[in-house]
Amino acid sequence: MVVKKQKGENGMEKLTESSPVRALPGVGDSRAAAFARIGIHTLRDLIRHFPRAYENRGAIRRLSAGLDGEAAAFMLTVATEPRSANIRRGMTITKFRAFDESGTVEVVFFNQAYVKDVFHAGAQFRFFGKLSPTRGGFQLASPAYEAVIPGVPLPSFVAKYPLTEGLSGKIIEKAVLAALRAVLPTLEDYLPEDIREKYSFPTLSYALMSIHAPRDSATLSTALRRVVFDELYCFSLGMALSRAQRIGAFAPLCPPVDLSPLLNRLPYALTGAQQRVCNEILQDMRGGDRPPMNRILIGDVGCGKTVCAAIAIYQAVRTGHQAALMVPTEILANQHYKELSALLGDLGIRVELLLGSTPEREKKRIRAAAESEGADRADLIIGTHALLSDKLRFSALGLTVTDEQHRFGVRQRAALKQKQRSSHLLVMSATPIPRTMALTLYGDLDVSHIDEMPPGRQRVATYVVNDSYRERLYGFMRRQVEEGGQVYIVCPAVEESAEEEPTDLPLDRLDLLDVREERPPLKAATAYAAHLQREVFPDLSVEFLHGRMKAAEKEAVMRRFAAGEVHILVSTTVIEVGVNVPRASLMVVENAERFGLSQLHQLRGRVGRGDRKSYCVLVSDATGDTARARLETMRTTYDGYRIAEKDLEQRGPGDFFAAACSGGFRQSGGMSLHLSYLCSDTALMHAAAEEARKTAARDPSLSLPTHAPLRAEVERLFAIEEATLS
Ligand code: ADP
Ligand code: MG
Repeated sequence: MVVKKQKGENGMEKLTESSPVRALPGVGDSRAAAFARIGIHTLRDLIRHFPRAYENRGAIRRLSAGLDGEAAAFMLTVATEPRSANIRRGMTITKFRAFDESGTVEVVFFNQAYVKDVFHAGAQFRFFGKLSPTRGGFQLASPAYEAVIPGVPLPSFVAKYPLTEGLSGKIIEKAVLAALRAVLPTLEDYLPEDIREKYSFPTLSYALMSIHAPRDSATLSTALRRVVFDELYCFSLGMALSRAQRIGAFAPLCPPVDLSPLLNRLPYALTGAQQRVCNEILQDMRGGDRPPMNRILIGDVGCGKTVCAAIAIYQAVRTGHQAALMVPTEILANQHYKELSALLGDLGIRVELLLGSTPEREKKRIRAAAESEGADRADLIIGTHALLSDKLRFSALGLTVTDEQHRFGVRQRAALKQKQRSSHLLVMSATPIPRTMALTLYGDLDVSHIDEMPPGRQRVATYVVNDSYRERLYGFMRRQVEEGGQVYIVCPAVEESAEEEPTDLPLDRLDLLDVREERPPLKAATAYAAHLQREVFPDLSVEFLHGRMKAAEKEAVMRRFAAGEVHILVSTTVIEVGVNVPRASLMVVENAERFGLSQLHQLRGRVGRGDRKSYCVLVSDATGDTARARLETMRTTYDGYRIAEKDLEQRGPGDFFAAACSGGFRQSGGMSLHLSYLCSDTALMHAAAEEARKTAARDPSLSLPTHAPLRAEVERLFAIEEATLS
């Protein structure tokens, strides 16, 4: 689409937050397309495209400090006029010498002959680059440079943006700065004044400016605090609003029924905790003058949440309603379908499975069954987000259950609520969330907590080892397989990550400028899996599963593993969610220091699901105190809640946000909490939630005139239609 650029007065366009990036000077169709690929469409998106790190150019190094392999800033005066030479076909090299008070260096540019017009003898520049040795001296090749102009201070920190094909750092920086210049003068600050004052936050304009072009680290740090606060505050407000919205809704009547037909089919008795939460759920569902249920069921992996959902579904269906069960992956949907159709099918409840991959004809049949009011009505539909499709309509939906909720973005939850405004909602999460966190993250939900495991569960013996144990570990893996067990090996990422440059200042370390935790190199999972199959276990079946595979391929591998045809499954964390393979007896986690504790706990929960004695081996070469302490926690603690609390203490709330917001990135369709997932300040987070609660109590629908900009911001974040908020 071609957007015609309209010129306003003085030749500049009238730009607002909602102008397309295409409207910026220097952004044509192809750059606009490149921006669109990373989710940036408007100027608003652009000024909220936050740097992933900063180069610290404020610390000037002397040339005499010599080589240390890292890029650094140098304040140099040009000594000689630049000279260009063709060194081979199509390759020019431009050189000149420069000096500081401690020594001289040769500065070199390749295929950038135009720098001859930039550098002249006597001029001073700040360079940023890596020194390399030459015959008898040093060279600075293709450094970044900024002219020193008397009276104009150079910024200490230079933003580095997440890059994408077709967009260099310079292009992004230019576009961001142009957008800031255009938008900031008229930008409204939506944060209520009293809150801003109470926490001494900078204005929104100043904060945004400081994040992209920080004057110094103190300014940057307060700006980041403000933005993180904003995100959490608006997030919590959105939750509160959506709750207020449901209070007026009509709740389906699902009064208590005789549960014994269902309970009698279970091969076990419910635990006390299961009975308690089931009562809470069934109470909520009675309806009448109450609002629809809005409840999250949290409980450790394997504590038996599914049966609680089954009981709620049973009560909904027996009282004339339908139920929907939404899960994040097809693997999990299949598993639930098998389990629940076996349990409920014989009780005369019609269960259907609806997946993205379900053939269109079958989908049509299921949709018809969902809409039917007759004997052929589908009572329970289990599926992935295919359930969110507009084409699926229920004749009498009374209950919606989502499992492993953290995999769905907040936005999906909002979509689901909007679709079934008056149905009961039960959200199940296997991520043990500390209570205080749950209040913040799920402010719109009542919390039920299963804090007891079914009897007779065995502990997964956990060991922490370093790479020197590798041979022994391989032997142990082989023995597991020979004894009829199966092995999971989880690696942190599919490819070697080359992104980390030593001079970066990652956002999450802002407070600890110099404290850099050591990070052993990632095992390239792909190569590792191939190596295991070829060199170590040629006689066994080793397969590899990763997040970028097509859903059907993942399913196929997972099915073979579940069927016992695959002995060793190497994977990235895609197996994390709820998969049940009772024969799996060993979980090996490579580079274990890279995982959050709660995530490790989830992974460990994949084994020990059958009668077999099970093990978890955490492999890590990290020697940092924090890393060691975290792994030690895993070795000695088995309670998911204690682990989650430790995680919160040690790493801050970041991980929980990441989980709650499906990665925190807008591409995923989850709400984009850009920075909060890096937030390590629990107090700030709670303050934001607390202020949101106060604001919502005073003005539940944000209809006060002073709250208009705030309301607009919250609506934008949640992308909820105007009408549904009032
Ligand atoms: P999660 O809470 O992780 O979803 P599940 O619902 O999958 O856990 O339950 C894990 C296993 O525990 C299942 O095999 C289930 O049959 C079993 N289970 C659930 N409740 C009980 C109980 N009260 N006593 C014994 N086993 C139970
Ligand atoms: Mg489950």
